[in-house]
Order: sequence, then structure tokens, then C-alpha cells
Amino acid sequence: MSQVVINDTTLRDGEQAAGVAFNLEEKIAIATFLDTIGVDEIEVGIPAMGKAEQNAIAAIRELGLQAKLLGWNRAVISDIQACIACGLQRVHISIPVSNIQIAAKFQGKWQLVLEKLKDSLSFALDKGLFVSVGGEDSSRAEDNFLLDVVLSAQEWGASRFRFCDTVGILEPFTTYTKVKQLVTDVKIPIEMHTHNDFGMATANALAGIKAGALSVNTTVNGLGERAGNAALEEVVMALKHLYHYDLKLDTPRLLEISRLVASASGYDVPPWKAIVGENTFAHESGIHAHGVLQNPHTYEPFAPEEVGRERNLVIGKHSGRHLLSSVLQKYGIILNQEETQSVLEAVRQQSVEKKRNLTTQELLYLAQVQQHSRAS
Ligand code: MN
Repeated sequence: MSQVVINDTTLRDGEQAAGVAFNLEEKIAIATFLDTIGVDEIEVGIPAMGKAEQNAIAAIRELGLQAKLLGWNRAVISDIQACIACGLQRVHISIPVSNIQIAAKFQGKWQLVLEKLKDSLSFALDKGLFVSVGGEDSSRAEDNFLLDVVLSAQEWGASRFRFCDTVGILEPFTTYTKVKQLVTDVKIPIEMHTHNDFGMATANALAGIKAGALSVNTTVNGLGERAGNAALEEVVMALKHLYHYDLKLDTPRLLEISRLVASASGYDVPPWKAIVGENTFAHESGIHAHGVLQNPHTYEPFAPEEVGRERNLVIGKHSGRHLLSSVLQKYGIILNQEETQSVLEAVRQQSVEKKRNLTTQELLYLAQVQQHSRAS
């Protein structure tokens, strides 16, 4: 199986999420963590944004990480110079490729867009840089024009092309067709950059990889513009379990990095968030909990330890007798069938009143009340 390069852009596209701004320490912590768990490449930011961003990027570069570091740029020579000033050896040059973007940003002058790409690309190559070229809004570009752009970028010396579903309007079948065509027609590797506006960022990233893309952009927790990007933890675990890639990533630390980015971004993930959410290995309903107690594979796609989680059997409205007995037994409480049923009814009533699961303490209290009424 060919390898897939994970190029994480939490520090660039992730930080572009509305209301998110990382400070220097947070940027350093996130870059270090990404490197520690084995991410291949990190898009560290946009040097052209100014001094603070440049200082952060230079500080990350000085860490001497294993991961390759990439700076994001417009097709503007001063942007590339800013990357060089930060000590970066890899640059990404983004140009719009759909009619709607070219009309809005360049008054429809697509030749001008290509000229600027050629100039900035040759400037970067002259400086000995690795150059990735990105087609903003590739998914809405005319297929022939997009192919012309990629072939031109290739001819001018680009090392990779980023296919961007900038507004997240693709679905996996269309993604596969479009990317397959590019992979067939060009020699340089294609990178997937997908957004989650219809909830398909991860699915589209995988469809692109199936079609032959060799690199993929991710962000931790799916953090990013609007509905966000393809989530690192989702892409990694899906590649591992659904496509059987051996990415050599330290997946048991995915939960830690999720928490780090949640804290730095100020946004927790919802409990039902795929892979890292609080409920991903929580079982409450009678049927599921009973199944998991028999064999975890009944209701878990993989072991919680693989992503740094623990299985969590929760007592609440949907719990059954089996789960209740097994939890109480853990605390040395053994009830007969009638008593168990009575506690279960009390649990259901309280869960509805409190609109949540019961804590262990609340459950034990109910069980003790039951035992006490037996004794009296
Ligand atoms: Mn993006």
C-alpha cells in the first residue's frame, strides 16, 4: 500500500476558524504535539500576516522538529519572502481556480492569475524551496481549466497540487471522479483539502485518497473555517481501520491532542464527536451495554485504548438490569431481581427529572436506600 502524507493545517486553516486565535505558547505546543505523534508535515501559518505570526513560525522552526514545515502564501513574491525570512524551506502558493473566485478577486483575468503563479513559483524555486500549489475552489472550477492549471504548475516546477473543496460542496462519488481524472492526467502528487459544510470533509478526503491522492490536509477536532475541515483524528482512524493504512501514528495520544486544541481554541468538541467525543465509547442503553459486556466488538468499531479513551458504562434512562447489576457488583452491592428492578425504576425516573445520566454516587445512594429497606 502506498503511503499517505498527513499535512496538518490546524495552525493555519484551523486558526482561521471564526473566534480562534492561538498565542505563541499554544502554537508551539500544538506543533510539538503534532510532531510527537508522527504527523509528516505541518502547515504552520501565513508569514505575510505580520510580525507576530512570523515570530511564532520562526520559533516553531527553531524547535528542530522531524515534521516538515510549510508556509501558506498568495501568489505574491513578498509573501514568499516572508516565508524565507522565517527560515521555511517549503511554501504553499494558493490561487483561485473557479470562475466565481477569479471574478471576485481578479475581475475575471485568469491569465493574470496564471502569470502571478508563474512569477511567484519561479521566485520560490530560484530560492531552492519546495513548492506546493493550491487551487482554491478546485471543486467548482471547470474541469478543463483546472487541468490546465495543474499541468502548468507541474511544468513550472511545482512539487504537489492541492485540490481544495473550499466551500465543502462535494460528495465522495464526485470527489472520486474529479480526483481520479487529475491523478490520471498529471504526474505530481495530489493533496486533498476538504471542508465540512455538508458534513462530508472526512468522506471526501478518503474518496480523494482512494482515487490516488497521496497527501491530505487535516485539522485537530476538524477546527477550521465555517463547518471546519477534515479532522485529523477521523482521517487517521478511518485510513487505519477502513483502508488499512499503516500510518505509524501514535493514535493513543489523539485524545490528548484533541483536548490541547480544544483548550487552545476555546471550543470543546461535542460528546458525539467522532473518535474523540466524550460519548464515543459510552454505553447506556440496555441492549448495547449487555452486548458490550459480552463482547466489546458488538457495539464498538475499535478498542477505546487505540485513541486514548476508556470504555464507559453509563447508568441512565435507557439502562437495563444487566448493566445495573454489573455496575453495582463492582461496588460490592448484590441485589435480588426484585430489588434491581426497583432501583432501575428509580434510576429512570431520576434521569428524566435531571435530564442526564446518574453519577456513580447517585446510583449507589439509590441502591443503599433499597438495601436499607430490605434490612428494616
Ligand atoms: Mn481551507
